[in-house]
Amino acid sequence: MTALWSNTCPACHQGKIFRDLVRMNPSCPGCGEVFEKESGYFVGAMIASYFLGVFLALPVLLLAIFRFELEAAWAIALCIGQTLLMQPFLFRYSRLLWIQIEARLTQVAKSGSDRKT
Ligand SMILES: [Zn+2]
Repeated sequence: MTALWSNTCPACHQGKIFRDLVRMNPSCPGCGEVFEKESGYFVGAMIASYFLGVFLALPVLLLAIFRFELEAAWAIALCIGQTLLMQPFLFRYSRLLWIQIEARLTQVAKSGSDRKT
């Protein structure tokens, strides 16, 4: 689980994926693994970003409405503000999550095809 959220290459676990908060290295400085495998590779990260955003906004929305009794419009505005402020983190962690998911799925597919031969 730690590797999932770490900023390290899924191939060598040494090189950094992100240089800073939002700038990615195109490839691993350690082993040369290319992070963006093909055009549109990070569409899956956009989906992951959506689910992370909802996962983080939903508790705030529920607390705002049921605990602090804000009107729904203000609660939704609060969640929109929270999501906008968290965009750099959502961008970073959705890409890290996507890279790790793709690496694990590739690993499982390879081990499955190795067993068949
Ligand atoms: Zn690497």
